[in-house]
Amino acid sequence: MKNTKTIAFTALTFYLILHCSWLRGCKDHQTDQASQITGSPDQAGISPENMVETNSTGTADATGSNSQIRIDQDLYLSQIQDGAYVITHSFPWAAHSLLVQMKDQSLVLVDTPYTPEATRQVLEWSKDHFGVHPIIAINTGYHHDNLGGNRTLIDQGIPVYGSDLTIKLLKQKGDDIRRQTLDALQECQYQRFHDRHKSIPYDPPTHSFPLQEGLDLSFQDETVQVYFPGPTHAPDNVVVYFPTRKILFGGCMIIGWDGMGNTTDADLEAWPKSIQNLMQFDADIIVPGHGPRLDANLRQHTLNMLAQHTK
Ligand SMILES: [Zn+2]
Repeated sequence: MKNTKTIAFTALTFYLILHCSWLRGCKDHQTDQASQITGSPDQAGISPENMVETNSTGTADATGSNSQIRIDQDLYLSQIQDGAYVITHSFPWAAHSLLVQMKDQSLVLVDTPYTPEATRQVLEWSKDHFGVHPIIAINTGYHHDNLGGNRTLIDQGIPVYGSDLTIKLLKQKGDDIRRQTLDALQECQYQRFHDRHKSIPYDPPTHSFPLQEGLDLSFQDETVQVYFPGPTHAPDNVVVYFPTRKILFGGCMIIGWDGMGNTTDADLEAWPKSIQNLMQFDADIIVPGHGPRLDANLRQHTLNMLAQHTK
């Protein structure tokens, strides 16, 4: 009896030692890996060298140290024009959204950070920086890097625009996206992200428009144009064009680095034709869903990447 107890006790001790060292290993590793994935803005998001200097609307020493504003460990803003900021959330993959102030002072948020918490932090920053103004939001697709923060927007009464197909696909395939995301985050160094991605609410847009028709939003004499060029990275991705600023938010259909990312939902045949349909926009700045570049050549760069990928 005594022996059995000793054996059980020894086994338990071994288990605890092993388990604790595994946990400790996971924790140490997690910290290393997290800083590696999220990186510095230079590695993971928009780097100052790659930012476009603009003078059309009056600002922006985009290469200056003031152009990047870190809000949190994984979240920062980059000023691209006076009153226009690219938001980069690395959770853990760096993804961009866009916050623009219109001439009537209202604000347009294109896509959201991955989480409601990060979205709340952006809105708090916006309130401190711009003051309190009406905000409208647009989701450019149903993937979680387009709308993971919708819960915060809806809680704050902010109208969220998205296409009828975005709403449909989110309902049909939102769970698939979550499963793919969790699969990609299984190693213990991603634990922090895995834990949160498990339960991020995927709330649909509150205001829908027919995908094929797109949407024009008016702000006194300014418009914002939401346009569907055809299937691309996902069947429902749209772009958002700010004509007075010559900014085109291309989102995930525009490739902002040398690589393709996840193409499981893509229409590789239609994608290049759809990108050709974006050539009509007179753009000085194109904001991709991911990657450090922001220049008008990103349409051609996307075509090049697609040609390489499908060769
Ligand atoms: Zn994306």
